[in-house]
Amino acid sequence: MHRLFILFLTCFLAHTLTAALSEEKRAFALNVPKAELHIHFEGTLEPDHYLKLIEQNGLEAKYDSLEAVQERLLDQRDLNSFIEVYEELLSAMRTEDDFYEVAMAYCRKVSSQGVLYVELFFDPQMHTVRGISLDTVMRGLLRAREEANVSLGLTLNFIACFNRDRSAESAAKHLEELVRWQDVILGIGLDNPEEIDFPKKFASVYARARELGFRLTTHCDVNVPNTLAHHWDAIELMQVERIDHGLNVIDDPALLNVVRRRGIGLTACPTLLYLDIPGRMGSRAGAIKTLLEAGVQVCVNSDDPGMMRSLYVGDLLALTVEEVDLSREQTLELARNSFRIAWISDDDRQRYIRAVDDFAESNLFSSDW
Ligand SMILES: [Zn+2]
Repeated sequence: MHRLFILFLTCFLAHTLTAALSEEKRAFALNVPKAELHIHFEGTLEPDHYLKLIEQNGLEAKYDSLEAVQERLLDQRDLNSFIEVYEELLSAMRTEDDFYEVAMAYCRKVSSQGVLYVELFFDPQMHTVRGISLDTVMRGLLRAREEANVSLGLTLNFIACFNRDRSAESAAKHLEELVRWQDVILGIGLDNPEEIDFPKKFASVYARARELGFRLTTHCDVNVPNTLAHHWDAIELMQVERIDHGLNVIDDPALLNVVRRRGIGLTACPTLLYLDIPGRMGSRAGAIKTLLEAGVQVCVNSDDPGMMRSLYVGDLLALTVEEVDLSREQTLELARNSFRIAWISDDDRQRYIRAVDDFAESNLFSSDW
């Protein structure tokens, strides 16, 4: 009886300590200073905000409740069906105020999750194609940038993403128009479905963007056909400095070597870990740890938290720490990497990395995590 009681007490204490450590890790990952570099403005639109915009703009209400919108968001079997839902919902954004409010809602959320700096993707073509001018989009985003800075201490810059399923001519035309806002649109990217050989299609647009002084990144999605060739062409033909997702780098030792040697950053999104779709990113989330251990500058990002009904970046990092069993030092490296590969000045980089180190020093654990 006595021995049984001791066994029970030991188990109880072990469970309590594990739970406490788990909670400590969660808070640490949630609050560690970080940058977010792979986040689609349009994908931050939450179902309740969508309904509000429909009402404000007097648009036809296709869904009669929040549950109905959430149900519609579950119609995401693959990237194409996701984009169909995506374009349908983002069409509720019409006015400068709409763009401002959606961006501010994101900023408020992440500023409570340790985020100090954001490079926010937006899709110019998804708005101009439905008659919304770039001027309207940018006025709203610039207001949010100003307010996020003043009221939240959050620095917000932008990356214009062109859609891989639209023409290179359309991308080239938009690129010239974006020069007006080059002080805040730091670079360009590519998103939407990964067409075969897309780097060849957009190589000349990227050459022109480089000539104009834009920084360069592109999506290379996970486990898609031709993925390794796309990674190579993105690096060699398009001369990108970062790859968005890019986890298949671990499948090719020569590619991994080039990515590490040239300091090409990977903006990984373990979002689907949370969604638990068999065979999707969940199976590749461990790649983040492998890449970190290989010395690649990878960081954790949230992609489309509103439209995917998934987690924002602090919560997502906390979940990744738990699921992939990252050490405290690896968690800190992910945070430092987000600033190492951000398109900021070296002074700002040092200042942000010092903030990560200060955070680590003032959040020492009693246990040995
Ligand atoms: Zn993305």
